Amino acid sequence: MAISRRYSASDVAQAQFAKATAHLQLDAGLVEYLLTPKRELIVHFPVTMDNGHIRMFTGYRVHHNTVKGPTKGGIRYHPDVTLDEVRALAMWMTWKCALMNIPYGGAKGGVQVDPKTLSQRELQRLTRRYATEISILISPEGDIPAPDVGTNPQIMAWIMDTYSMHRGYSTPAVVTGKPIAVGGSQGRIEATGTGVMFTTLEAMKALDMAPAETRVAVQGFGNVGGIAALRMWEQGCRVVAVSDVNGGIYNGRGLDVGALMQHQARSGTVVDFPGSERIDNHDLLICPCDVLIPAALEGVIDELVAPDVQARLIAEGANGPCTMEGEAILLDRGVLFIPDILCNAGGVTVSYFEWVQNLQTFFWSEKEIVQRLREIMLESFQAVWQIARQKEIDMRTAAYTLAIRRVVDAVEARGIYP
Ligand code: NAD
Repeated sequence: MAISRRYSASDVAQAQFAKATAHLQLDAGLVEYLLTPKRELIVHFPVTMDNGHIRMFTGYRVHHNTVKGPTKGGIRYHPDVTLDEVRALAMWMTWKCALMNIPYGGAKGGVQVDPKTLSQRELQRLTRRYATEISILISPEGDIPAPDVGTNPQIMAWIMDTYSMHRGYSTPAVVTGKPIAVGGSQGRIEATGTGVMFTTLEAMKALDMAPAETRVAVQGFGNVGGIAALRMWEQGCRVVAVSDVNGGIYNGRGLDVGALMQHQARSGTVVDFPGSERIDNHDLLICPCDVLIPAALEGVIDELVAPDVQARLIAEGANGPCTMEGEAILLDRGVLFIPDILCNAGGVTVSYFEWVQNLQTFFWSEKEIVQRLREIMLESFQAVWQIARQKEIDMRTAAYTLAIRRVVDAVEARGIYP
């Protein structure tokens, strides 16, 4: 079954925000200000394809809020990218950065394209043109993009190079998630998946779940899902099911994720991994497991899927994988959520480390990176867990109240200009 796209990501983001603000006494005008994106850029641009023909593409860059610092947020290449989706993702970045205590506002970008249908040369031309179109917004001081679905370190290197050519000197700090050769950080590629593992283990501890007895299912086997599956397997959990856009695989005795990574690198998919049973993306969400890690796209756990989900713990590797209706059904059943703005914040945290290293032109070891990442992830998890317990609210609402409060403190300290 294809991933559900029946809902508006912005509606989900706004409903989550509204649920949290019910616990904060905020002025109505301030609430409206916090909900409204600061600026939204839509670009339509031509790319010369390898066959010599011109093809038009549409891209976006949205800045949600800049009160706490320059904006930060990934760039997505996917055929279903819309302004509504980019807007929601930008808002989630504002709360995520505030929650992690990282001095950034939220942004997001995207191009409506299936990158798998382009040659490397076409992908490079598209990236350089899109980077040029959005260069009125991006800069090391103002807005720093990073990879998201369908983009990768190579694409970040092309953005960095394009921006640097315009400036006349190398500007590594304009993007994060770059290859190490051009100022990337140790540990950045694995950061989001590693952060998912840190928060999931912490939640498992709170629920008294021993890794050796824990069955894990992961939807999406890309940068986030692939590494999260690997890390959970390295921690001794039984990874029973994984999937990608081509479908899923299941083995109740557990998959050898190390071997699966090699299979995927060879064949480009997890499907047909020896010793596994073929399932689809719907089966994956409802398979017998204790921990479910949705790490593909938004809106996959809706009110139709939720009643059949078997996991006790949902670790949101993806941004916005649960609709409000889906989440409500699962919360009623006592399922614990590690909300996306906490669970997958390892990526932006190490992106922040990369930016800091670029600005000071001084690089840290992988050990230092992972240690600092672990500290920040655990500290943030504990802060959210404590609020959830004290106020008897769910983890997402707790995370939002903390993040929104921090942004409100910044608004109040700065005042409204003029
Ligand atoms: P990716 O492109 O590396 O991987 C995406 C995975 O999802 C791939 O395995 C792909 O095959 C699969 N997929 C795509 N469409 C699918 C479909 N219709 N059904 C099932 N699977 C499908 O992307 P990523 O960077 O791993 O991002 C995944 C999610 O994590 C997104 O929600 C993204 O916003 C979020 N995220 C990513 C990062 C990061 O650092 N990369 C950080 C925070 C959040």
